[in-house]
Amino acid sequence: MVLKLDHIDKDYVTGKIVVPALRDVTLHVEQGEYVAIMGPSGSGKSTLMNIIGCLDEPTRGSFELNGKNVLGLNDNEIADERLNNIGFVFQTFQLLPKQTALENVCLPLVYAKVGKKERRERAARALERVGLAERMDFLPTQLSGGQKQRVAIARAMVNNPKILLADEPTGALDSKSSVQVLELFQKLNEEGVTVIMITHDAKVAKHAKRTVYIFDGQLGDRDLNQDE
Ligand code: ADP
Ligand code: ADP
Repeated sequence: MVLKLDHIDKDYVTGKIVVPALRDVTLHVEQGEYVAIMGPSGSGKSTLMNIIGCLDEPTRGSFELNGKNVLGLNDNEIADERLNNIGFVFQTFQLLPKQTALENVCLPLVYAKVGKKERRERAARALERVGLAERMDFLPTQLSGGQKQRVAIARAMVNNPKILLADEPTGALDSKSSVQVLELFQKLNEEGVTVIMITHDAKVAKHAKRTVYIFDGQLGDRDLNQDE
């Protein structure tokens, strides 16, 4: 099991105000699955993504990543688990604007302390895999939205993480670029990568093999809004 969340609660506490953002969330994901997490604004999607991505800790519950309990690890250990297990893709790409496509893709390898020559070789291969071999030396401003997102996907995958964790990956793209990104996810999933995609768009969620719905901080198998 690549991801195992059991009875997760998350409270945001500001002074005396407690906002329960997740309540009794249990989610198990096997290696090689393609899961969409759908829910309306404010339902807890980002909170769940931050916990899955080891960017935030739950208030209660247990969380295993690739068979390892990650709660209670220190910051360095968590950073290692994150680097080895998870590639992130965001709605707004989050590329460094003054670095080329190749340099952006090299970043996770810099953190992983891979030497410069190997870094550039692996980043170049990752860019080839997303169809951007000709654009390695372009800056983000010289790329279309779809191309920027493909650079971000190359960066997410360059370290061969188990999980691709994508937060509204097509939210800022036109329909043609969205299709390209979703086709790329499909290809990566067929190669064995576990894909977890957060979206509020049912048409996007259809590309996943399984959809879980989050509503008011709770997970369910069906979309409560769309039930008859
Ligand atoms: P979504 O991503 O689905 O829009 P979020 O996970 O951002 O939902 O938010 C879930 C709930 O938690 C919302 O009620 C939101 O207002 C609240 N929330 C999110 N972040 C914080 C925070 N840092 N402090 C307090 N409340 C928060
Ligand atoms: P894609 O479908 O691959 O995302 P587009 O059809 O949007 O690409 O763009 C066609 C070409 O125009 C791209 O190869 C890209 O080099 C260029 N281009 C698109 N948008 C921009 C932009 N905002 N700035 C510079 N070049 C762009």
